[in-house]
Amino acid sequence: MATLTAEIKKRSKKAPVRGMMDNVMEQFETAANKINLHPNIKKILSITNNEIIVNFPVKMDNGDVEIFTGYRVQHNNALGPYKGGLRYHPTVDIDAARALAMWMTWKTSLAGLPYGGGKGGIKLDPSKYSQGELERITRRFTFALADNIGPEHDIPAPDVNTNSQTMAWMADTYMSTRPPAERTANQHVVTGKPAGSGGLEGRDRATGYGVYLSIKFWAEKNNESLKDKRFIVQGFGNVGYWAAHFLEQDGAKLVAVQDASGSIRNSSGIHVEDLFNYSKANNGHVSGFPEAFDLDNEKFFRTECDICIPAALGNQITKDNAKIIQARLIAEGANGPTNVEGEKILLERGITIIPDILCNSGGVVGSYFEWLQNRSGELWQLDEVMAKLHKKLKESFDKVYDYATVEGIDMRTAAYCIAIQRIEKAYIQRGIFP
Ligand code: GLU
Repeated sequence: MATLTAEIKKRSKKAPVRGMMDNVMEQFETAANKINLHPNIKKILSITNNEIIVNFPVKMDNGDVEIFTGYRVQHNNALGPYKGGLRYHPTVDIDAARALAMWMTWKTSLAGLPYGGGKGGIKLDPSKYSQGELERITRRFTFALADNIGPEHDIPAPDVNTNSQTMAWMADTYMSTRPPAERTANQHVVTGKPAGSGGLEGRDRATGYGVYLSIKFWAEKNNESLKDKRFIVQGFGNVGYWAAHFLEQDGAKLVAVQDASGSIRNSSGIHVEDLFNYSKANNGHVSGFPEAFDLDNEKFFRTECDICIPAALGNQITKDNAKIIQARLIAEGANGPTNVEGEKILLERGITIIPDILCNSGGVVGSYFEWLQNRSGELWQLDEVMAKLHKKLKESFDKVYDYATVEGIDMRTAAYCIAIQRIEKAYIQRGIFP
């Protein structure tokens, strides 16, 4: 008993754990003050429009039934249908879904897309389930959400631990709930589908390509080349892998990687395709890669490098490790990887951050192209897609970079200011019903 009381006392003295929502709200507040956002619009954007929580049963391979909890938060749709991914992860809860939905609103607005923001997912660890179970979980979740999503209303996409296969199951399930004559016309209910099933050529690499391009644009602004630049990547999933792939093509050197299995380092360089093939054969894990040393997790952010790419989960760079980061540039492949306290320290140290809503926006821009392609019945080639992505991301990067330079502010605040002003304008033009 005595030990328990002491433990509770000790814990209550600690600062409360900051959730992702605290983070996104503080970022919003800073930008809203900077642009003198109209108080009525501020009230609207501070809350989410709809929050859907579904509990649903799924039959497991052994015949037992398990109950799952799924979320979809629709933050704002002033600029168009809600848009954003669905993730499968134990950290998914209503706080995370709200924050991630808000980030999508800013991201789609900044990219100049006709979308709002939404996000969701299921609280689960997918490594504990078979493919068959994951398929049934996905289909049942889609069925539970079916009245609240739709190709012109709310369009999910892949996110952490979901992929084109997940989207193929979702599209098929959703289309099966529609009358036969309307089925194909509904295939753009989700984006990120496989290329053979209404998906976009290159959607798989779009996010990582965008992360790479942001870094390249930053280097160009500083009259630097990417050749021999050392970079570290946290998370070697779709985003981390593709970003590393394109950086390596430009002569940059991957020197450390961290994922859920551990951390690895090789200061002479880790060959990206070798690591990719190794991780594919090892349940997606990087630890134990024979051409690198295993590294203590705490030492990962200490690695000597020029560029750090957090491409895993939120709240990874905090006041606890912001002091030890060696990079000059942080390129946020993940959503919300740097919290407000961590960011303050990084900015004081003169480290540049390319914020998530700009840096990883290649994914949702790719999704937009897929959606357009589905609506018009066109099929675009890979080189066309990559060229269009380049053009769109360059426009966004320049807008943010120039705004930050002219106003003398950091790139995140600049990105927020641009994104929020676009939404404010739409509200002012249309007024509030009734
Ligand atoms: N999940 C990705 C993101 O966070 C993509 C969202 C989408 O394509 O709708 O941006």
